[in-house]
Amino acid sequence: MKVLVTGGTGLVGSAIKKISDKYDNYTFFFISSKNCDLTNYERTKELFERIRPQYVIHLAANVGGLFKNMNHKVEMYEINTLINLNVLKCAHLVGVKKCISCLSTCIFPDNTSYPINEEMLHNGPPHTSNDCYAYAKRMLEVHSMAYNQQYGDDFVCVIPTNIYGPHDNFNLEDAHVIPALIHKCHLAKEAGEDFVVRGSGTPLRQFIYSEDLAVLIMKVLEDYKENGSIILSVSEEDEVSIKDIALEIANAFNYEERIVFDTSYSDGQYKKTADNRKLKNLIGDYKFIGIKEGVKKSVEWFLENYDSCRK
Ligand code: NAP
Ligand code: GDP
Repeated sequence: MKVLVTGGTGLVGSAIKKISDKYDNYTFFFISSKNCDLTNYERTKELFERIRPQYVIHLAANVGGLFKNMNHKVEMYEINTLINLNVLKCAHLVGVKKCISCLSTCIFPDNTSYPINEEMLHNGPPHTSNDCYAYAKRMLEVHSMAYNQQYGDDFVCVIPTNIYGPHDNFNLEDAHVIPALIHKCHLAKEAGEDFVVRGSGTPLRQFIYSEDLAVLIMKVLEDYKENGSIILSVSEEDEVSIKDIALEIANAFNYEERIVFDTSYSDGQYKKTADNRKLKNLIGDYKFIGIKEGVKKSVEWFLENYDSCRK
């Protein structure tokens, strides 16, 4: 059984690669933009016709944190729309048995009740900070549903919360909050300067460690038979504030005294608390890596790979 993993060199793709030895009944193909530009239909078709996968884990995307989403709306919409259109069309063309595509809890309506569940995805506009990424991702769910209804395909969408871990993008401007702050804390400590956290620190997030997410995606591939999308998240009780995260990172660097919050920057969405009941029905009592351990592992990986990592 061949599994094509698009976005195979990114944060999530690398985590799937790390655990892939445990799934020896599958042959994995990890694809990056260097192997195939998925915004190009002809190249994408060639890739799918060459590999002819039975399964696709579709992770490839133009991804970034709050500030990338705010400042690059056109690319967030256009690149993601093109990639998703081409991947789903080609997965159908070569008769893929199951295609798992990745959405995000940040694409849910901004004005909503909590916790958010899978049925609420299209019930109102997303937060304006990431609307272009969100609309491109929402259409991935619509497109998957269309193939399922019209052709009987098995195209499923998973909806993870904020992800972090080894092989993340640590860019100071474009990255998500954990990798951006790991990089910033490292530089602040080196220079003996303040560790500046953007916004007020009050927003709440559920963070999932990339290797936990990899296990859950494989579980969806093997055992998820229900209709509709599924949220992949830690429990509601494990939601933490950005301030908590900044403290965990500072603690991992032993640099807690110099944290300051720059409230001239946006806070983004206040929270997007997700309901993981559907996931719990699938996995039972799965033990997630806690935030303290996950941050520590991510900081260690960043320091060990400082010269070569994305930053
Ligand atoms: P990532 O680390 O930025 O990796 C992105 C991957 O996509 C890379 O392998 C990249 O290849 C590939 N890619 C980008 N543009 C491409 C193109 N035109 N053609 C082919 N490949 C292309 O992303 P990630 O954080 O692992 O995200 C994986 C999935 O999870 C995405 O669908 C994302 O939307 C979703 N997600 C992420 C988060 C998060 O917090 N990170 C949260 C929720 C959902 P290169 O290395 O060659 O550029
Ligand atoms: P989001 O969860 O989709 O909003 O994306 P992020 O991972 O970018 O998290 C954004 C939250 O972290 C906002 O409340 C920001 O104000 C806060 N934050 C603090 N410092 C930073 C930073 O350096 N980069 C990013 N991306 N967010 C930061």
